[in-house]
Amino acid sequence: MKLYIPDLQKNEGKFYSYQDTVSLETGTGDRPLLKVNLRAAAIHTRVVIKGQWKADLQGECSRCLQKFSYSLQEDFYEEFDHLSNQATAAKGAAGQPDLETGERFVFWGDFLDLNEYFRQSFLMSQPLKILCREDCQGLCPVCGVDRNKEQCSCRQEKIDPRWAALQKIKDKL
Ligand SMILES: [Zn+2]
Ligand SMILES: [Zn+2]
Repeated sequence: MKLYIPDLQKNEGKFYSYQDTVSLETGTGDRPLLKVNLRAAAIHTRVVIKGQWKADLQGECSRCLQKFSYSLQEDFYEEFDHLSNQATAAKGAAGQPDLETGERFVFWGDFLDLNEYFRQSFLMSQPLKILCREDCQGLCPVCGVDRNKEQCSCRQEKIDPRWAALQKIKDKL
């Protein structure tokens, strides 16, 4: 996704709406699609973007290991420094935000390329665990059946410690 900055500069301070689908290179083989909705404006030497992205994804449940579909979405707000030419950009590649300068993203030239920005945003928003549903029962640790689908006969109910004491007495009788 690239924004053509001269368009924004015609009306400084005015927010323009953009919609695009960004195909991300995440290095894991699949290329998630981000549906991006944003508003952008040129303000002095900066470009401000704000909006939201959404992605429909396939994942594996952390408990039962079943594949399922889920979606992620994230709100964002960012300011980019628009440098007048390449010489003033530290070592940012053409039109790319320079992620190493830390404080604010920089770019130069007529286009602001947002793909790397969205790739980072996507990677940071990944949850550590995903569940196919809140009350997923997971796999039986004894026989491995998917407890959402079958009831196995493995005994592993947690015995209330008070009853466990009684159980011991009973075993001795
Ligand atoms: Zn599950
Ligand atoms: Zn079992």
